[in-house]
Amino acid sequence: MYRDEHYMRLALDVAKAGIGQTSPNPVVGAVVVNGGAVVGLGAHLKAGEPHAEVHAIRMAGEKARGATVYVTLEPCSHYGKTPPCVDLLIQAGVRRVVIATTDPNPLVAGKGIDKLRRAGIEVDVGLLKEEADELNRVFFHYIAAKTPFVTLKYACSLDGKIATATGESKWITSEAARQDVHRLRAQHDAILVGVNTVLADNPKLTVRIGEQRKNPLRIILDTNLHTPLDAHVVTDREAETWIITGSGISWEKAEAYERLGVRIIPMAAAHIHVCDVLRLLGEQRITSLFVEGGSRVHDSFLRAGAVNEVVAYIAPKLIGGREAPTPVGGLGFSRLEEVMELDIRQLEMVGPDIKVVAAVKKR
Ligand code: NDP
Ligand code: ZN
Repeated sequence: MYRDEHYMRLALDVAKAGIGQTSPNPVVGAVVVNGGAVVGLGAHLKAGEPHAEVHAIRMAGEKARGATVYVTLEPCSHYGKTPPCVDLLIQAGVRRVVIATTDPNPLVAGKGIDKLRRAGIEVDVGLLKEEADELNRVFFHYIAAKTPFVTLKYACSLDGKIATATGESKWITSEAARQDVHRLRAQHDAILVGVNTVLADNPKLTVRIGEQRKNPLRIILDTNLHTPLDAHVVTDREAETWIITGSGISWEKAEAYERLGVRIIPMAAAHIHVCDVLRLLGEQRITSLFVEGGSRVHDSFLRAGAVNEVVAYIAPKLIGGREAPTPVGGLGFSRLEEVMELDIRQLEMVGPDIKVVAAVKKR
């Protein structure tokens, strides 16, 4: 049992190589062990490319025969972009498969395990399940809810202000914290902000870290199409931009943005409702959404019960001012029994700033 846990931890570590680059697929790691030695390792690295088991079994070659395979997610049993991994494991002649967690995808869900067992392979399920579920929380949420996993992010001072009373917000946190934000952006399918944030900060919302990566989609909530035509998100063509509006906008006005390559998406209602936005994004295969403000947008997402995780960067500064905005504005919750409760998952220093990652408790 101790050895099993050791190898499954290794498989989880290998799986982490794919974090942020496998969407819309899960991250998966596999380890092949024969005669007490690791003979194969593999991770799923990109949608459409080989699954973790394929890399691991190929590496093991002939040594896969009679081996034990540790895999962080139930092997697939259906024909997707690649043939089923279950068939590969059977052909390779493995003796035993240890699986951390089952695949909630209805195309797989237990079928992979059944097929392995019918082929006479010993299968154990559930080792380090919690860690494996946590690793794929975005994918599992998307499969179940059909809407993106939502992470709300903000930077604030130690007294909880996201800007000064006069609206200055660049920069509250350090360069190191901002680099960390770029890393998180790169892991999401889309970034969303409210029109006031565009008007106040004219953000680029792109990934600016060392190596060149694909920028996530940029989404602006802007009921009446007030986003300036010369805003970075409209003109720079660094990433795709969608502006979500209410139903009342004029098409002549919309055309000016579309000519610049921006997609204008009017909602059916006069006002933009968060649940409608999430449904739309889910249909467009957006599995993860990084909400970067401002405070009214954060409030709308929280009150819609749409937030899964919060990432806060807290700078050792005091801004003060009764009128200075805080991370969640709008109406907020009026009763303590209604407030959002969180579990702190991660607490670390990023340069001089504190980074807190917290998961919203399910009600
Ligand atoms: P937001 O950026 O949250 O934008 C709010 C506006 O978005 C609304 O007034 C509304 O305008 C539009 N909107 C459309 N649909 C919705 C919806 N469903 N829910 C909420 N808003 C919607 O504005 P804030 O003024 O709250 O925040 C902006 C300030 O926050 C700026 O000063 C900025 O510098 C700061 N900021 C700080 C950050 C930090 O981390 N420190 C990050 C981001 C911003 P309309 O009716 O016209 O559509
Ligand atoms: Zn597979």
